[in-house]
Amino acid sequence: MDKGKLVVLGSINADHVLNIRQFPQPGETVMGSHYNVAFGGKGANQAVAAGRSGADVSFIACVGSDDIGERVRKQLASDQIDTRPIEAIADTTTGVALIFVNEEAENVIGIDAGANKALTPEYLERYKQQIIEASALLMQLESPLESVIAAARIAKDHQTQVILNPAPACELPDELLSLVDMITPNETEAEKLTGVKVSSSEDAARAAQVLHDKGIATVIITLGSKGVWLSQQGQGKNVPGFKVKAVDTIAAGDTFNGALVTALLEGTPMDQSVRFAHAAAAIAVTRAGAQSSVPWRHEIDDFLA
Ligand code: ADP
Repeated sequence: MDKGKLVVLGSINADHVLNIRQFPQPGETVMGSHYNVAFGGKGANQAVAAGRSGADVSFIACVGSDDIGERVRKQLASDQIDTRPIEAIADTTTGVALIFVNEEAENVIGIDAGANKALTPEYLERYKQQIIEASALLMQLESPLESVIAAARIAKDHQTQVILNPAPACELPDELLSLVDMITPNETEAEKLTGVKVSSSEDAARAAQVLHDKGIATVIITLGSKGVWLSQQGQGKNVPGFKVKAVDTIAAGDTFNGALVTALLEGTPMDQSVRFAHAAAAIAVTRAGAQSSVPWRHEIDDFLA
């Protein structure tokens, strides 16, 4: 990937985060220890990670015609993101995520897509030029699937690299996978896509091969604190991450993706780009929240120095 523009296409949510001791069982009510509202959504988190880590990034997304939508757009602009392709959709609410975080820093999440559903192929058509002029397009799966496929097709037709973070986990049509240049599932997502349960390097290599066979050149399976399995041209290896004390892992994968693509667009070799993304994600897991945990470039550079 050459030095050039990045387009992120994806979701915007307002995250309501409640810290609790243990997740409630069905029918149970638990008291929380801390509550806050923060801006999230996988698309927005990845755009913020790219913007803060230094990419020339624009973001195709939708917010509701509500107060929080306006606030999110302003926040994204202050994170160095071109927000012109973000429209406020009449008579809709901004997407929302309800997040519980337990004492082990694990999370469970429920989502109402809200305005994110308005990111249709027709909406996308208005911002097609952004994808055509970009060097890379980064997407996730919190937007309508037909729009993700349509965007990938526009990108492919114009030599824009397609990077898919296939989250949240779901099975995907070969039609989409054949348009993807680089895919970055976590272990759960890799299993959903390939049917291979990833609990060893051998498993990761097998899962990666299934994805290569679908036509994807670069497969990066993220392994939480164990780093990633990086597979290119049939050659796979583990690239370990950094050891840090995790506070919560919300947006770890999003930070990894935004930072990884930023480094690649600067012409940084793959191994070094993964290391850069590991550093960004390691910083993010030491901090609470989604976008609030995403580091700026100088923080990543200091971490690596
Ligand atoms: P997701 O958040 O999508 O489930 P992972 O949990 O696989 O993704 O984490 C993505 C990346 O975040 C990892 O490859 C690593 O760089 C970083 N990361 C996640 N958890 C930790 C941790 N406990 N310590 C250090 N880095 C972590």
